[in-house]
Order: sequence, then structure tokens, then C-alpha cells
Amino acid sequence: MKAMAYRGPYKIRVEEKPEPRIQHPNDAIVRVTRAAVCGSDLHLFHGMMPDTRIGHTFGHEIVGIVEEVGSSVQTLKRGDRVMVPFNIYCGSCYFCSRGLFSNCHNVNPNATAVGGIYGYSHSTGGYDGGQAEFVRVPFADVGPSVIPEWLSSEDALTLTDAFSTGYFGAQLADIAPRDTVVVFGAGPVGLAAARSAWFLGAGRVIVVDHIDYRLEKARTFAFAETIHLAEVADIVVALKKATGHLGADVVIDAVGAEADGSVVQHLTGAKLKLQGGSPVAVNWAIDSVRKGGTVSLIGAYGPLPSAVRLGDIVNKGLTVRANQAPVKRQWPRLLDHIREGHVRPGELLTHRFPLEHIAEAYHVFSSKLDDCIKPLIVVGE
Ligand code: NAD
Ligand code: ZN
Repeated sequence: MKAMAYRGPYKIRVEEKPEPRIQHPNDAIVRVTRAAVCGSDLHLFHGMMPDTRIGHTFGHEIVGIVEEVGSSVQTLKRGDRVMVPFNIYCGSCYFCSRGLFSNCHNVNPNATAVGGIYGYSHSTGGYDGGQAEFVRVPFADVGPSVIPEWLSSEDALTLTDAFSTGYFGAQLADIAPRDTVVVFGAGPVGLAAARSAWFLGAGRVIVVDHIDYRLEKARTFAFAETIHLAEVADIVVALKKATGHLGADVVIDAVGAEADGSVVQHLTGAKLKLQGGSPVAVNWAIDSVRKGGTVSLIGAYGPLPSAVRLGDIVNKGLTVRANQAPVKRQWPRLLDHIREGHVRPGELLTHRFPLEHIAEAYHVFSSKLDDCIKPLIVVGE
């Protein structure tokens, strides 16, 4: 089959790989029809996640048709159109039984924190991802769901991560009615968090970024006020001014690891100018939230040490909540919102590329070229 393959930082190719096979009675094989590229894939692409092995296939946003099921799979059958959450989880361990699907204990032998993720390096289990013609789906009765007939594959695709993750970020923030919510980062995840904040009762939503077209999308897709980082001398002062000098009730970080220009030695031996290490937006979040407010962290920071100002968290009496999103938990509510016409999350997918041209998709998305919010990879029908 054709599959995206990692060849080192900033290098990806489409290669011939053996088709995945059922390895366990709980497995299914899904023929991928649509995949997407996530901001998290960019961290892999930039070479900043540990144990990203040469030849690994990325891709944790997957929609497709069930091709084959293992002998114990009961909820899926060949021919079903499914959406596959980015998390791989057993559904029954201590953590899964508490809804912490992204912290499953049984799917990632290396894990001290996160559970399994498709196509997200061997630090999350080494599972090949779905930027390929086929993908093996473990615990097939637990993760994937059959897509309702009325739901488009593009809308479904955004539920497998980006939109559900943004919604989760807003949920974590425990928004009270009429709260002022600030979102750092107008990528797909931040846009989804901003849009979702309204569903959860926000009175005001302010999105911060430094890319014009993304702030434009924040206004049209998320109905948010926006602040362009280059247009204010100090974003914390600007946010204080905008909130009657109290600070925001809630701040959501949807930036994650960002460029600080530091050069490190990658596992492969290459010297890399890193994206990551300096949690600028997290410290801005701590500074711009009001005393007693909540900071919700849904960006990915990787394993690098991060200089977060703990003293201010304590002294301001902040609540800080974070996790990889257990996305399937968000599906019932989000399906209601989509069915009732409140949102079309597929609008986040602004660019289409065939699998053969996936390297171009990474390049355009990583460089924030051509007004790209998020690339859709068309793999098959
Ligand atoms: P993206 O790269 O498209 O968006 C990031 C945005 O942040 C960009 O628009 C960028 O211009 C902006 N930005 C950079 N520095 C900033 C700063 N200091 N202040 C404000 N904005 C800044 O990525 P995405 O797909 O939207 O993902 C965002 C983050 O969420 C990534 O770190 C990704 O790994 C993470 N993520 C986490 C989960 C989870 O489950 N927690 C799931 C998906 C993605
Ligand atoms: Zn993702």
C-alpha cells in the first residue's frame, strides 16, 4: 500500500509498505478514505518528539471504511464508514474506566503519562498512523464509531481530533456564564476552542495570534474578537486593558511548543533548530488570567523542560487543567451541535491534497502558506 513515511526532520515521502494485518482478535483494518494533518504532526515533522523512527507513518485523524475485523470484534463490520479517535485505548483499565481514554494504561509500554496515539512516534506506542491507504485499529470495539449517514466525512474527520480537542479545552476551562475567554493560538485547535467556548456559555471570546488570515478565521468561524501580537506592545497589558484590568476569567493555550530558536542534538544525531522549549504562551496565559481564574492547556509541549512560572500559579490561586483530549467523550454533544446546524467543523479543512502529495501538505501547513488552516488528505473514496 501507499503510506506516508518519515525520513527525518522536515523530510517525508510516500512509500510502498506492507498492508497492515489483524494482529489480535480485537483489531480491525480500516481502508482510509480521508486523513488530516494536525499541528501535533508538525511537532513530529520538526523532529522534536522523542523516538520518532525513520519509516514511521504519521496520521491520527482518520476516516475510512472497515475492511476486515478480528474474530472478537462485535460493533463493527466490513463496509462500515467509521471515524477513528486519535487515542488508542483499551476501554477497561483504571484510567479508561474513569474516562481518561488518553491516559490508557494498556496500550503504550513506554508510557508514564500518555497512552497510545496513531502515528505519533514510539513514545506513544509506535502504532503506524492513518496517512496511508490502510491502518490497523486496535481495540476496534472501543475507539471507532460508525459515522451517522447525515454526517459528512470532513465534519467527522475533525471530530477525530482538532474540533473535539478544542471543545475539550473549553470544557476543561469550566466556563461560567458570561465569562471572558481568551484563546492563545488561532490554529484549528484554538479556533475550535474559541467556537466551543460560546456553546459553553462564554460572554466574550478573544483570540490571540500573529498570523492575519488565522485571526480573520477567528472572527468568521469563531465569532471572536482578535488581537494581533504584532499590533500590541505587550499582549498581557493589552489583555488586562481589554478586561477592565482584572484579567480574563479563563485562558486556553492552543499553541503548544513553539519556536525559540534553540539548537539541539536530535536522536538521529542531526543538529536541529527546535520549535519548542519556551512556553511563551503558557506564561502569557498565567499573566493574563485573573486571580482565581482557570488556565486550560491543550497545546502539545513534548518532553522538553519548560520554564513555567509556578510561583504565579500559586500566588494567583489559579486552576490549571490539561490533557491530551479523550476525544470520543466529546462526540455525543458535538454530533448534536452539528446536526442542529450550530457548526460545520469541516470548515477548518481549507486545503485538499491527494496522499501522493502529502509532503506538500506538510510544507504548506508548517509554513502557514496560502492561508492554510488545516490540510485534508484525500486517500480514497
Ligand atoms: P497550528 O500550528 O496550526 O496552530 C498553532 C497556532 O499558534 C498558529 O496559528 C501560530 O501562529 C500560533 N502561535 C504561535 N505562537 C503563538 C503565541 N506565542 N501566541 C499566540 N499564538 C501563537 O496547530 P493546531 O493544529 O491548531 O494545534 C495547536 C496545538 O495543539 C499544537 O501544539 C498541537 O500539538 C496541540 N494539540 C493537542 C491535542 C491534545 O489532545 N491536547 C490535540 C491536537 C493538537
Ligand atoms: Zn492531533
